[in-house]
Amino acid sequence: MDNCIFCKIIAGDIPSSVIYEDEDLKVIMDIYPAARGHAIIITKKHFENIFELDDDVAKKVLIVAKKVGIALKDELGCGGINLLQNNGETAGQTVFHLHFHLIPRYDGDNVTIKWITGKYEDGEALELAQRIGARIK
Ligand code: 5GP
Ligand code: ZN
Repeated sequence: MDNCIFCKIIAGDIPSSVIYEDEDLKVIMDIYPAARGHAIIITKKHFENIFELDDDVAKKVLIVAKKVGIALKDELGCGGINLLQNNGETAGQTVFHLHFHLIPRYDGDNVTIKWITGKYEDGEALELAQRIGARIK
């Protein structure tokens, strides 16, 4: 992908601070960190979002997230870590090459990941679950 900033980072054409790399994934420091140590796991192959992700690569992401998460926690002494991932502009995605955020959390930090909770009518959640489930391929 010619105009993709993460493809350029993967190719080494744009420099980055690399934490970890293997045949499928590269983990780098986010250039605009939400908190100290904010890392992003980037797939080497260009997938726009999770909907396009190959199963083979998908299997590896969580293992790397776990390993890097432990390393972040050990090194930074953070209280916890948010693993999060945005798909589509509406969901807050700004770079359209699949990546996963690892955001170390510290007491009193400036990170807010919040929503106002809603409520289902009686039976609505079950009906919705069944309709969604029937679409799984
Ligand atoms: P998104 O908003 O798509 O979930 O996340 C994109 C992330 O990529 C943002 O957190 C942003 O700070 C990070 N980012 C954008 N451009 C660069 C860059 O050139 N280098 C690095 N290391 N991170 C970047
Ligand atoms: Zn790309």
